[in-house]
Amino acid sequence: MSQVYLNGAFMAPEEARISPMDRGFLFADGIYEVIPAFNSVLFRFEEHLQRLERSLREVEIRNPFSPAEWQALCEELIAHNGGGNLSVYLQVTRGAAPRRDHAFPTPPVSPTVFMMTSPIAVPAADSPDTATGGKAITRDDIRWARCDIKSISLLPNSLLRQQAATSGAMETILLRDGFVTEGSASNVFIVLDGTILTPPKNHAILGGITRDLVVELCARHSLPFAETEITEAQLRQAEEIWITSSTREVVPITQLNEAVVGNGKPGAMWKTLARHYIDFKRRLCGLDQE
Ligand code: PMP
Repeated sequence: MSQVYLNGAFMAPEEARISPMDRGFLFADGIYEVIPAFNSVLFRFEEHLQRLERSLREVEIRNPFSPAEWQALCEELIAHNGGGNLSVYLQVTRGAAPRRDHAFPTPPVSPTVFMMTSPIAVPAADSPDTATGGKAITRDDIRWARCDIKSISLLPNSLLRQQAATSGAMETILLRDGFVTEGSASNVFIVLDGTILTPPKNHAILGGITRDLVVELCARHSLPFAETEITEAQLRQAEEIWITSSTREVVPITQLNEAVVGNGKPGAMWKTLARHYIDFKRRLCGLDQE
């Protein structure tokens, strides 16, 4: 039976209760992280924790736990849920205040901490030779100006992702002022004239942990790579398009709106990168070679 964590205790999901006065509920005043574990081993845990710390600092919510405490909680939750390949969702809100007021409560209240796990489906990068890729659509990026903060306020992302779902696509790629920012829940890479490109990290995008790992793997394996703004025209001309996230890893996009990307199959550069990615993951998480 699955277990969640809420404010100091593990329990069945249906037993978890929060107050309607919680600022997460009233204002979406909170921060979250999604950390994958493969073979019960947390993947890029330090990087995820650093991003959590940064997000909390940016919105002035006290981090309730030390890195060691977070790790122990994540590991205990994974064990309670049977281990294996799971993602840990963790959320910290500013807490439940006595009355609804946009300004922070004084004196401060205790943050609310909620954690749960979900199974991770086998990602495309695990099978570079048989992966088929998916469809993405493009839409205007209607989000706020601090997308670098991993806020639980995800209504714009949710509306944008729903448009993908309605169009039979797996992701919505976002454009701001004619430039690619990211996906509704992923970062974007393209291959153009044989070079792998991704937009630079700034307030317009979430600094993805998977994005950073792909950048690291490009450097380590001397793949042609540049961080640069990507125009809508470049996106449409790209030989390959990939989206990255912790639970989907690196997924080839083979159809953009109604147009085929490249030859409509996952590209050669994606296959190369996917092989490096799976090698890296196997070494880190002690997975068996196929
Ligand atoms: N951008 C957005 C808006 C996201 O929601 C996500 C996934 N949480 C990402 C990028 C990818 O980040 P990561 O690789 O750390 O999962």
